[in-house]
Amino acid sequence: MEIVERNYGSEHEQVVFCHDAASGLRAFVAIHNTSRGAALGGCRMWSYASEDEALQDVLRLSRGMTYKSAMAGLDLGGGKSVIIGNPHSDKSEQMLRAMGRFLNHLQGQYIAAEDSGTSVADLKIMAKETPYVSGITQKPSLNGELRSGDPSPSTAYGTFQGLRAAVKHRLQRDDLEGLRIAVQGLGNVGYRLAEHLAQAGAKLWVCDINPPQVRTAVEKLGATAVSPEEIFVQPVDVFAPCALGAVLNDRSIPQLKVSIVAGAANNQLAEERHGLELLQRGILYAPDYVINAGGIIDIACERQGLNDQHLNQRLTGIYQTLLDLFTRSERERQPTNIVANLMAEERFTVH
Ligand code: NAD
Repeated sequence: MEIVERNYGSEHEQVVFCHDAASGLRAFVAIHNTSRGAALGGCRMWSYASEDEALQDVLRLSRGMTYKSAMAGLDLGGGKSVIIGNPHSDKSEQMLRAMGRFLNHLQGQYIAAEDSGTSVADLKIMAKETPYVSGITQKPSLNGELRSGDPSPSTAYGTFQGLRAAVKHRLQRDDLEGLRIAVQGLGNVGYRLAEHLAQAGAKLWVCDINPPQVRTAVEKLGATAVSPEEIFVQPVDVFAPCALGAVLNDRSIPQLKVSIVAGAANNQLAEERHGLELLQRGILYAPDYVINAGGIIDIACERQGLNDQHLNQRLTGIYQTLLDLFTRSERERQPTNIVANLMAEERFTVH
């Protein structure tokens, strides 16, 4: 196994590349900032076209984790790892075990969790070689069922709390009764968010490219199905993106008829300037990495051995964090995405 330290500018603390010829593993770990604690972040596996593309991704993603954990008030830093390869055809036990041994090289400064292209089962294989993985132990979910690592229920619940904060700030309402909400994407997070919203009395308009999930939402939650193209133009109060990144862009923003955007998807703004565009159109945007921090909060609680009551309290904390952020954004007349970055940077030591 060949492990090479790479020096990439001053912003990241450590960037390491590993090549293991025996298993075919080629992977990067990037540690962005550990001033709040060990760097925790997902291990992504993706068919990157080149090592450089993988490197750019791991640098960007690890930076994002520093901001996310800081805003969630966690004693964790930001890091990420990427494995170069097709998660459907290139993955093997040998490769995952090699990844585990690679993680040992970082001596606990980076802790891996599941991400796109890796599963809890994959992380369990890495754990045969290393203690530096998380999100793999069985624990009771918020509704009492045993679940294995999957942080999606916590992400959904945290997003629900964040959406409530946006409604409180913009519409001065404490309840969601009769509120009209369009949910884009009914996957692990989106469907659960839709359940919380329906339970709170909201009326739902939903879409997914997967028809069975839409049917279930119509039958069980009384939702109205719309096509993926129509979701942006619904005359509703809130748009909750829970599918893809870059959905808030030059094309979609002018179509929106909502006063709030609050959903779980990562990287919702195609570019940072779209935050300003939303502000100028009078749309309150809940910054993605603040509202969707439930997953990382879940993993942090698991690592600290905290019970569900603590987890619940911390997830509910997203409500207050967002209220503070919205108030500051209004006071300083700055877009919420910019204020989020400023607030995060006040919470860690910028190198
Ligand atoms: P998922 O893959 O389970 O669900 C995504 C859903 O979106 C799928 O049902 C898919 O069919 C649907 N979809 C894809 N393209 C679509 C389109 N064009 N229009 C409508 N629906 C479409 O993923 P997830 O775990 O529910 O995550 C959803 C989003 O939240 C992602 O952006 C993810 O990065 C983000 N997120 C998830 C977590 C988590 O804990 N799972 C944490 C933080 C952020």
